Amino acid sequence: MSTGAAEGLVITGIGELTTADDAEMVEGPAALVCAGDGTVAWVGRQGDLPRQAGTARVDVGGRAVIPGFVDSHTHLVFAGHRASEWNARMAGRPYRAGGIRTTVDATRAASDAELLHNAQGLADEALRSGTTTLEIKSGYGLDVAHEERILAVAAAISDERTFLGAHVVPAELAGHPDEYVELVCGPMLDRCAPHARWIDVFCDRGAFDEDQSRAVLAAGRAAGLGLRVHANQLEEGPGVRLGVELGAASVDHCTHLSDADIEALAGSGTSRGSPHGATVATLLPAAEFSTRSSYPDARRLLDAGVTVALASDCNPGSSFTTSMPLVIALAVREMHMTLDEALWAATAGGAAALRRPDLGRLVPGCRADLVVLEAPTALWLGYRPGVDLVRTVVRGGHLVAGGWP
Ligand SMILES: [Zn+2]
Repeated sequence: MSTGAAEGLVITGIGELTTADDAEMVEGPAALVCAGDGTVAWVGRQGDLPRQAGTARVDVGGRAVIPGFVDSHTHLVFAGHRASEWNARMAGRPYRAGGIRTTVDATRAASDAELLHNAQGLADEALRSGTTTLEIKSGYGLDVAHEERILAVAAAISDERTFLGAHVVPAELAGHPDEYVELVCGPMLDRCAPHARWIDVFCDRGAFDEDQSRAVLAAGRAAGLGLRVHANQLEEGPGVRLGVELGAASVDHCTHLSDADIEALAGSGTSRGSPHGATVATLLPAAEFSTRSSYPDARRLLDAGVTVALASDCNPGSSFTTSMPLVIALAVREMHMTLDEALWAATAGGAAALRRPDLGRLVPGCRADLVVLEAPTALWLGYRPGVDLVRTVVRGGHLVAGGWP
């Protein structure tokens, strides 16, 4: 198997190779071949490596290699910060959806250049911690012009862009949510849809109810966008079941779930074998960590056969981190996922949540996005919390952060 590989890169000396595919793990010494087109051409035991005359070789000295993280839920384009709100929350004030409006004011006041500078800085930070794919949502503009320009700024960073005009009702329309939903579904969607692949709605207490959320998702689908839902973060509600009913790619947060919610998710499609097409439950434990809230019941979802993804929810209010290694450590320590389950959820699971079968796995044909860890095994992602273990980040077969060992 050598399709174009002669121009690519051969990585040898891999102590443990996590593919996030059915086969899961290739024990070392393993090797991986990137094709000249930036995809994975071959993975396997080093002794079985096909002859690749003329290709560049790198020996990673027994270190573990994993797929690059696919962070399928971020709010990366905004201005300002809310450190004092966080500080007050740590002193006992609960998190409320309305804090979003503080960031809306700062974002509206910022220039395009400032917004791009901030977002690019966060994207670079994420890349250095191993994130090779980022989804980015709008939602801090909340009027036609600002939502559109947030998505235009995000276009410089990622192809996976989500129109989240229905984040909260803006201050100028407080008390008139139906009027705002009409704006979101009409002129705002018209201007934003060309810049986005997805539409999302915050269906929860203090945000949008079931009818309003349904209207937003239906309008988005009619405009050709795929569906995502912020659901069941603050309390049990209709969001998860609505997402499943409408065929959303992902319902995100899933912190407060009823038996009916779990059943709906489990019935939406198959799990790890072929997750694309199912409604993925995307868990965001850094949000619970940062708001000192109880964590989603990941075990209940996994044991019911639901496809689970992990993402950062990077935003200035409830989860100001880009670190997928932190998210994985939290998922293992606080949500009782195994390291293997958490790593799958942060890579192939995130790709399933974005319906991108070309990402998140190290198998032939997938994009060659990978991380070399400063560790002999990926278990260290949970075993050594808070330590930067990301040595090398490769995207599309090219070194993009860190350096070769
Ligand atoms: Zn979010």
